[in-house]
Amino acid sequence: MKIAGNILKSTRDLLVSSAKIGVSTKDLDEIARNYILSQNATPSFLNYDGFPASICTSINEVIIHGIPNSKDILKSGDILSIDIGVCYKGYHADSAITVPIGKVSDELLKLLEVTEKSLLEGIKQAKPGNYIGDISKAVEDTIKPYGYGIIEEYGGHGIGKNLHEDPHISNFYYGLRGALLKPGMVICIEPMVALGKKEIFEKRNEWIVKTKDKKPCAHFEHMIAITKDGNEILT
Ligand code: MG
Ligand code: MG
Repeated sequence: MKIAGNILKSTRDLLVSSAKIGVSTKDLDEIARNYILSQNATPSFLNYDGFPASICTSINEVIIHGIPNSKDILKSGDILSIDIGVCYKGYHADSAITVPIGKVSDELLKLLEVTEKSLLEGIKQAKPGNYIGDISKAVEDTIKPYGYGIIEEYGGHGIGKNLHEDPHISNFYYGLRGALLKPGMVICIEPMVALGKKEIFEKRNEWIVKTKDKKPCAHFEHMIAITKDGNEILT
């Protein structure tokens, strides 16, 4: 999983430096697939439940599961969430980042900063003796003062031989502490935070998930291993 995580890290770096004005999300998908395959790994998302691409590219009001498309050309002022999965020798890694394209408003830059901070605060709570709920609470407590919408329908998860495993990790505390964290567990923490309201819009049998009020949304994700003394970020 460490190796999968390392391949993912270099894929992400490559995509972040390629995500420029005028580039299509389809271009980014090809860059990702070619690089991942060159590392003797495979893109975890391709054909996952029928997903038709190697990465998810979600622009502005798209929260997650945006499908790369030659018609989606990045323009100045956009924010782009890139979600990447890598499988190496049967083990998965999963991570996401939201990047500003060209000149982005201060309001959006703040949203990105706070969402990433909430991920890091969640990670700080991921240690033996704590519970999943401690992670959820730290994420929520970081976001709340800003009045942003925390997406409730999607969240983090366990990971290993499967891309998504138990337990589910919500980005808000709903009153149950959940599973106890133990060394050896590997989990993904992934806050999705909207500039406006938390309500989502999705259609049955369609991948794309958007905010209902069409306000932009940020998404940051890391895969981490719980260790004896705390955790290690693998992506
Ligand atoms: Mg994930
Ligand atoms: Mg992901």
